[in-house]
Amino acid sequence: MSHARCRARLLSHVALLALLSGTAIFAQPVGKKQLQTNDDDYARSVKEWTTRPEFMSPLVDHLPKVAGIPSPKDILGHHIGEPKKLTYYADMLKYYRALAAATPRVKVVTIGKSNEDRDLVVVYVGSDESIKNLDQYRAYLGQLADPRTITSQQAGDIVAKAKPLYHLSGGLHSAEVGPAEMLMELVYRLATEDSPIINAIRDTVIVSITPAADPDGRDRNVDWYYKYGINETEGRTTGASVPYWGKYVFHDDNRDINYSQVEMRALLDWYFENHPPIMHDLHQAQTLLYTFSGQAPQNPNLDPILYGELPMMANFEMAQMAKYGMPGVWTHGFVDMWSPGYLAFMSSNHNGMIRMYEIQGFSGANTQKMRLNPPPAAGRGGAAATPTPAGPPGFGNQTTREWYRPWPASGEFDWSLRNNTNYGETGVLTALQYTSQFPKVIVENFYVKSRNSMEAWRKDSIAGYIIPAGQRDMTRVERLVNLLKLQRIEVGRAAAEIELNEGKFPAGSFVVKRDQPYSRLAKTLLEKQVYPDPNLRTYDDAAWTMGLMSHAEVKEITDKRLFDAKVDPIKDKEIRLAGTASGSGSTFAIAHFGSNNMITLRYRLKDMKVQAAESEFKQGDAAFPPGSFVVAGDAGRIRTEVQKLGLSAVALPAAPQVPLHDVDLPRVALYSTWGNTQEVGWVRYAFDKFEVPYDLIYKERVKKGDLKGSYDVIIVPHQSGSGKRLVFDIENRGQPIEYKRSDRFRNLGKYGESDDITGGMGLEGVAAFEKFVNAGGVLVTLGAASYFPAEFGLARRVDATRASAQFYAPGPIVDAEILKPEHPIFYGYDKKMVPVRYASGPLLSVQTPTNPFEAPSGPPPTPQSVLMRYPGGDEHVLSGLMRGAAEIRNRAAIVDEPSGKGRVILFAGNPCYRWQNFGEFNMLFNTVLNYNDIKPAPERSSSTAQQ
Ligand SMILES: [Zn+2]
Repeated sequence: MSHARCRARLLSHVALLALLSGTAIFAQPVGKKQLQTNDDDYARSVKEWTTRPEFMSPLVDHLPKVAGIPSPKDILGHHIGEPKKLTYYADMLKYYRALAAATPRVKVVTIGKSNEDRDLVVVYVGSDESIKNLDQYRAYLGQLADPRTITSQQAGDIVAKAKPLYHLSGGLHSAEVGPAEMLMELVYRLATEDSPIINAIRDTVIVSITPAADPDGRDRNVDWYYKYGINETEGRTTGASVPYWGKYVFHDDNRDINYSQVEMRALLDWYFENHPPIMHDLHQAQTLLYTFSGQAPQNPNLDPILYGELPMMANFEMAQMAKYGMPGVWTHGFVDMWSPGYLAFMSSNHNGMIRMYEIQGFSGANTQKMRLNPPPAAGRGGAAATPTPAGPPGFGNQTTREWYRPWPASGEFDWSLRNNTNYGETGVLTALQYTSQFPKVIVENFYVKSRNSMEAWRKDSIAGYIIPAGQRDMTRVERLVNLLKLQRIEVGRAAAEIELNEGKFPAGSFVVKRDQPYSRLAKTLLEKQVYPDPNLRTYDDAAWTMGLMSHAEVKEITDKRLFDAKVDPIKDKEIRLAGTASGSGSTFAIAHFGSNNMITLRYRLKDMKVQAAESEFKQGDAAFPPGSFVVAGDAGRIRTEVQKLGLSAVALPAAPQVPLHDVDLPRVALYSTWGNTQEVGWVRYAFDKFEVPYDLIYKERVKKGDLKGSYDVIIVPHQSGSGKRLVFDIENRGQPIEYKRSDRFRNLGKYGESDDITGGMGLEGVAAFEKFVNAGGVLVTLGAASYFPAEFGLARRVDATRASAQFYAPGPIVDAEILKPEHPIFYGYDKKMVPVRYASGPLLSVQTPTNPFEAPSGPPPTPQSVLMRYPGGDEHVLSGLMRGAAEIRNRAAIVDEPSGKGRVILFAGNPCYRWQNFGEFNMLFNTVLNYNDIKPAPERSSSTAQQ
């Protein structure tokens, strides 16, 4: 003990440390005995690649050499962390599979396929005994996850036998390259090293890993590194990163709250077969290692035990790494515990524990200079690291000493991939050491948190939620229920009418009772977010309320009689609510109740004539709102599709006596810059899911001109942040930057190709868009892309400005007021006020035409082209946090501005956001389907202001 204290004091003196010869002092850390032969070549290499002695630790300065078991170098040809070496995903799998073939301590299972058909795997490592009995250990955790299956006595017995499963994940963000490399060495070390720390981990903990959570993005980024990054030196960078990681999204794979992406969903499904009490996601963005501790704002639904566990582990890591002499380890002060959408949050959402690191690193494997000196004079504290690590604004300063950062990194030094490996691996081994010291506490806490979740309703008085049957559009109810089921929240259907203080709910209503293990998550997803303190900021979205996002009615229930209501549990993984097609005949009316499936139906019946009713009509008892389809054709096919898509149709004896227009199918393009493809990706994902065909176009196509010759509708999704950035995009630094497939770089050139991704569409592109609109094209801009038509004169009467510096709106859900309910954009919407996600796009306003012969009186009228507006003010914030809500008062949310023979439709918000705001998708889909059926705004023809 005294020996240890003495050593700790010794090691904390950096100056002295520098005098000691490299890592020699660490070769015999506290409690460590040399029990086996080490790989001298490894020790020599990693010492050379580590840029300063204090960036090394006694846990990773050596690597065992074991006959018959391949080290990473044996398969990859190099040790982990060698400068200028990154590993392709196939080689990672090759390594893990070779390791699994050589030792019974490692097992690889395939859990799915990526979008580009790569195997998704989980690698387990533990003692021979743990891996041999893996199924038994997984079963123990499964029992602890559902306290209803066991008595408290049995739970105690299981805790005594169980082992914690600690899941680690690297490569979720493809440019954060280090952890995915490090994990290969970690698994090898855990399988082979014979030392007190590792032996304890191996015997008491089962470790599982996701080698690279986005394998497609991994390979694309590695290609990009070898093509460009490897040649970059300080002051000579291309300034461009690879245009795509995964097929659809970049960083948002860590915001995919509804697990839309196949890679994320495969891991979620794996989760429920394994129930790891801890999921630890490894990122790269902070200096030198940030370990997440669940700071405020904290989601109050989660168990207080968790909020004790998180800083406990983070502090242990901070203390141990300080003991090893490693500066720059800190906690707190970066990411909060508010949004439940992070990938590893699947653990906290299900009574486990999310953990997260941000390790210093770069997008490639070059060693780079870092300067952490404080700036001269002005400014608080030190400057951000150079190159600036990615992260939200306001988090740049990582060099000040704080209570949560007792030993900040400082000065100038080189940073290498091996440094990143040393920090990441030492941190993870320390976390595993902690777990190995308290394995029973961790599994017991997992059980107790699961049990507490079943009882949480007693404290917060929310008995559950009812999603009533008989809602106008049941497809959105189906989607909502299925998203709950995806998260394994138990949902039942009311066997009979339920009468409660909150009202009567018909038989067949969907009931979520909170006496279930995932009751906390049910509340988190279904309640309206009430922000604990308006002065706090959140790292991500403040609101996600599923009912509001889907425009589905969800009733919060406090009446405890809900628990007695008889329900039939939904056993299937998901429900399918079949549509109805009644009556006989071959002409059908299909009601437009706002289902997103209407557009799918239209495309599935693309060879048939489909018309839309412009006003309501009735057939028997059924009322068909404006926008309802009238289709004549193969009755069998129409019925089948209507039923499959959950829609409502009635056969008609004759065409209804209301004005109809043809629902023509436009030629659609989605425009993407090369610099911002992610938000476009979410729209592509939605269009793919709803079977809407489109071309994805870039500046290359736009500059060719004659857009009208190819397209009727061009959608520019939310991207770039300003009109100027959308137009000029990536800066050209003197050399073209190619994004093309070749034999050497087979992952590039996906989802589009370019000889030079820099420079943007330029004014040439603006002119092409202007011609498109003048020739009758429909230009649709979403969110930040709506600066473009306003700033570049494509919608001349529209102004786009920014909110004040005090304004803060991290994705709250707010009211929007529909001003032109007759406009085809609103087909299917029956309420005047609808909940929408606020996207922090431009504040739009439209100049009203004035009559110079009339003196103005009263407030100016709302221009005809404003279709929807934000009432604004705090009273219209429905969920989440918004500071300065009055700044958006009466601002336009959607503008439909005729221009030339065409029109520009500007959305201030983003109606197609991250597979989340399903209730708004339909506004975009209606725009597509009715692109040539929009009546011009009346003021246009009579205005004198247009000359
Ligand atoms: Zn990241």
